[in-house]
Amino acid sequence: MEAKKTPVVGLPRAMLYYRYRTLWHAFFEELGMKTVVSGPTDREILDRGTALAIDEACLSLKIFLGHVAALEGKCDYILIPRVSSFGRHRNMCTRFEALPDLTKNVFRESGQKFLTYDIDVLQKKDEPAAFLALGQALGFPVRTVRRAYKAAKKAEQSQYKARVREQELLYKKDGLKILIAAHSYVVEDPYIGKTVTSYLKKAGVTPVRADIVDRKAAVECSVQISHTCKWEFSREIVGSIAMHCDKVNGIILLSAFPCGPDSMVNELLARRVKRVPILNLVLDSQTGTAGVETRLESFIDIIRFKEGQL
Ligand code: SF4
Repeated sequence: MEAKKTPVVGLPRAMLYYRYRTLWHAFFEELGMKTVVSGPTDREILDRGTALAIDEACLSLKIFLGHVAALEGKCDYILIPRVSSFGRHRNMCTRFEALPDLTKNVFRESGQKFLTYDIDVLQKKDEPAAFLALGQALGFPVRTVRRAYKAAKKAEQSQYKARVREQELLYKKDGLKILIAAHSYVVEDPYIGKTVTSYLKKAGVTPVRADIVDRKAAVECSVQISHTCKWEFSREIVGSIAMHCDKVNGIILLSAFPCGPDSMVNELLARRVKRVPILNLVLDSQTGTAGVETRLESFIDIIRFKEGQL
């Protein structure tokens, strides 16, 4: 008799992957399922995503669609969660609400199957309930799914705490430090944000990540800068800036064109945070590294001049 094939879940290496990868991998592994991740973003992935998206889509969404296309036909399911809110005044950018429906529509003729789960705390759908529904939809018993989620959550929390500790050590390092304020999927993407952190390192500057922070503390601190910001990821970044702007020599506001939340939040930050120089850097699909490097070079020179190093 032929052995039953283990289903493979595809994880697009974009957007929420950078926040939930440990949880996702551990959860499916605990259930005995396999995962496959799309490769690092490159020009081909970006071009495929750009061709699939409408012109108004943000760069992150174009990259995301390129990653889904790269996984098409290579797995049984592609995971695309819907994450809407974490509570009152704790919303997500609307792209994350639309993502499963939007993607299914774009790939409607491909035959590719998708998996989703739904987090909307305002509608009483929290993360444990969402993962329970996901596991049950895959045919696993309630106890097995609960156990898998608990183990995966534990792995995620311990890995994230270690990353926060690592960043905290960077604030204590000697030399120039620049805080990068960006969504994880922008700053960590190898084709876009990583070119910025790599350049800083080569220039002898320590980049520190605002998005890797004690999230609860950051959301609480965000009110020091804005009482009204309602996007959860932006609040974490704003709070992280409030917590750390005295420990760095400059801040880079790094965003993906045309990001609605960032266009408002970055404007607010530029007006309210006066203690350190700020560079507002918007990346788009046409951005060549030369243009970005020139702006980074000038910004570092300004900081060095201010610190009496030039
Ligand atoms: S927050 Fe900005 S970059 Fe992220 S998905 Fe929304 S529009 Fe795109």
